[in-house]
Amino acid sequence: MIPLVNPFMPPSDVLMPALEKILYSGYIATGQAVYDFEDQFKLYIGNPYCLALHSGTDALHLSFILAGIKPGDEVISTPMTAEPTNTAIAMVGGKIVWGDVNPNNGLLDPESVRGLITEKTKAIVLVHYAGMVCDMDAFNKLAQEYNIPIVEDAAHALGSKYAGSMIGNNSPYTIFSLQAIKHMTTIDGGFLCVKNEKALERARKLRWFGLDKRYSRLENDITEVGYKYSMNNVNATIGLVQMQYINEIISRYIENGKFYDNALSRIDGVTIVDYSPNTEASYWLYTMKVERREEFMKAMTSAGISASPLHHRSDTHSLFKESKRELPNMEQWYNSFVHIPCGWWVSKEERERIVEVIKRGW
Ligand SMILES: *Cc1c(COP(=O)(O)O)cnc(C)c1O
Repeated sequence: MIPLVNPFMPPSDVLMPALEKILYSGYIATGQAVYDFEDQFKLYIGNPYCLALHSGTDALHLSFILAGIKPGDEVISTPMTAEPTNTAIAMVGGKIVWGDVNPNNGLLDPESVRGLITEKTKAIVLVHYAGMVCDMDAFNKLAQEYNIPIVEDAAHALGSKYAGSMIGNNSPYTIFSLQAIKHMTTIDGGFLCVKNEKALERARKLRWFGLDKRYSRLENDITEVGYKYSMNNVNATIGLVQMQYINEIISRYIENGKFYDNALSRIDGVTIVDYSPNTEASYWLYTMKVERREEFMKAMTSAGISASPLHHRSDTHSLFKESKRELPNMEQWYNSFVHIPCGWWVSKEERERIVEVIKRGW
């Protein structure tokens, strides 16, 4: 069965010597390996204000703290995501207001969001679902017009671009996840990207009990509650080795995705998604709409190809019952979208076979 997700691990003759060295180095907690990994990640993104954390969820939590979300504040978000996007809003007591999605790509619809903004709205969360980028031209305008910060959940969008730059350069807060099944994994890990030194300094303290690790404990004064969200040297060492492969790996996702965009564009029962203007997807999952989805998935599975919607909408959880509302476009999208394998492990022969199987019909 060709899987939908598959962690890339560097070859063992490259990874294991580096891991062995750090494991027996006497310094496995947060240290130089983490700072070196941060430096490489900053270069990759093109943003000097990136902070390594233990997970993407930690990065989301810190984003909402930095954005100043207090209990009762409204945060506009999307149900079309993995759970942590929205549970992290609940961590700071934010009240979720569900925006509706664009029915042609499942991404938050700027016009729906505009209609939901009130005086209580303190942040807008955008999820670049499956590596497709939200309509940033429209959202940047909205953010400016109402002076509301955007948090970009780019857990699926490492290597995606907006206006020619990597995602991670645009909004006040962008988060990445390095969890097992994402484009790049350090087993667990995450990044928070901000836009200035001040936000970075505060986040750096928040990730380690409220202390600034660059100074001795005697020179430190804790001024607000911090957490244990730091990355350790072992995860960072895996990340440093992963950085040698990141361009090659992500370009495999993108090549396969573009191949499907082209090869699937005129097939009965298949609708290619709309990509937002001025953006480039990194195709963490290949996403499309199909007619008779159940039958489609069955046909694919019997040909040895995984196909599924993968994520469950977030607005059905009891935790969010007070936010429940009708989302007609989400309804339409949610019943017809599906993912097919697209990542680094899908060979040219396999992607052609996948297209042939779809062409045969279901
Ligand atoms: C994976 C994921 C996260 C959180 O990542 P962790 O590193 O597992 O904490 C957040 N948002 C989305 C959309 C994700 O898929």
